[in-house]
Amino acid sequence: VPLTPRGAGTGVEGGAIPLRRGLVLDSSRLDGITILPAERVAIVGAGVRKLDLKRAAARHGLCFGPDPSSNPSLGGMASTSASGMTTLRYGTTRENVVSMRVVTPQGDVIRTRTAVRKSSTGLELNQLYLGAEGTLGVIAELTLRLFPEPTARTGCLLPFASVADAAACVVALLQAALPTLLRCELLNTEAITATNAMFAQQLPPRPTLFLECAGAELRHTRRDAAAAVALARAHGAEIQGDTALQLTEGDALESLWETRRGCYPASLRAVGATAAPRKVLITDVCVPLAALPRVIAATEADFLASKLQCILCAHIADGNFHCLVPYAGALEAAAAHAAEERMIARAIEAGGTVSGEHGVGMGKIAHCLCEHGAAHLGVQAAIKHALDPRGLMNPGKVYHVAQQQQQAARARM
Ligand SMILES: Cc1cc2nc3c(=O)[nH]c(=O)nc-3n(C[C@H](O)[C@H](O)[C@H](O)COP(=O)(O)OP(=O)(O)OC[C@H]3O[C@@H](n4cnc5c(N)ncnc54)[C@H](O)[C@@H]3O)c2cc1C
Repeated sequence: VPLTPRGAGTGVEGGAIPLRRGLVLDSSRLDGITILPAERVAIVGAGVRKLDLKRAAARHGLCFGPDPSSNPSLGGMASTSASGMTTLRYGTTRENVVSMRVVTPQGDVIRTRTAVRKSSTGLELNQLYLGAEGTLGVIAELTLRLFPEPTARTGCLLPFASVADAAACVVALLQAALPTLLRCELLNTEAITATNAMFAQQLPPRPTLFLECAGAELRHTRRDAAAAVALARAHGAEIQGDTALQLTEGDALESLWETRRGCYPASLRAVGATAAPRKVLITDVCVPLAALPRVIAATEADFLASKLQCILCAHIADGNFHCLVPYAGALEAAAAHAAEERMIARAIEAGGTVSGEHGVGMGKIAHCLCEHGAAHLGVQAAIKHALDPRGLMNPGKVYHVAQQQQQAARARM
């Protein structure tokens, strides 16, 4: 019987949709959380949500690093190697999983590795299941790395004339290696306009960097925020006087991050030229930092030239940006998808990836062939076949061969 694991269902590439019917395995009752403060790890059921883990860890003065804008399950995060606004310091989910308990398609329960700091006993099975999107087995339990929760926080908003200027400033900021820099996000003019329509916080409609420095002492976070502001001024940030910086500290910063997290719901509300019901195309790519200013500027310009809104929000310090494109009707849909194809081609040409964090699911299978080539995908398909010879785990996802079989089966029906 085909089996499709499902976490919180927040994936945006269709990963949890059962394409060949069968069973959908809902992980939400795998909800145990044990914090081991001395080891700085959490042992969680795969269905535990990010925010529940965050709250449990905070009671011990600890935090879980990866922070997607959604509230997914930890099993789903591991399966898509999710990341978010804090990758700069903590890495993606990949770097934060110590060990996992996985159920194989044959029904065996294995532990990917022992939960110790280091081990040299054979292949690294964590990395095999991380990002596998439920196609190799079901993750039942995870042991996750925790960090001390930063207690001092200073943030600022840095408006620029263009997304290219903002991206160039980020490249310089990363070279400066400010020790407490935790978050560095970008919203373009259309994203600010869309979030202004939804949230109390009203920002000038300009491409804007959202920055947060976090650490143990305010004097350190203030020092680094001031250095970031000076660098931004040198890179043409449009800062008039000190008040425009909106330097914020402590919990007041949460309203900035609420705005950043709200880009997707804000894009759903964004009003376009037509009165027809609107959908939103969501897509993301990740490129090397050196290519970032050029690729991000060309992509925004391309969507706008196609007469589409381009709500661009980016984990910019990772070279990762998302375009949220509201559209209505067949013509706008075709224009949006054509511009997305050009965005993906641009990212590949720049040495980037077709999905920085959303996974492959069913949406990006063909693009993976362009990114990796047939020989690489052949290796992936061989691993899949070895572990799941009957192709029962989340059929039709991730693997090119699986998609071809799916299409052939549809054609026969
Ligand atoms: C508003 C919004 C904002 C978002 N922001 C971000 C962001 O900042 N960063 C980011 O990375 N993503 C983001 N996403 C995408 C999404 O939240 C992530 O992909 C997330 O990791 C999916 O987790 P989930 O629990 O919802 O998984 P689901 O959507 O339920 O499933 C995703 C995939 O994982 C598999 N899976 C789920 N649980 C298991 C398990 N226990 N064992 C094996 N396979 C499993 C499923 O089969 C499927 O292939 C966002 C989505 C939304 C809607």
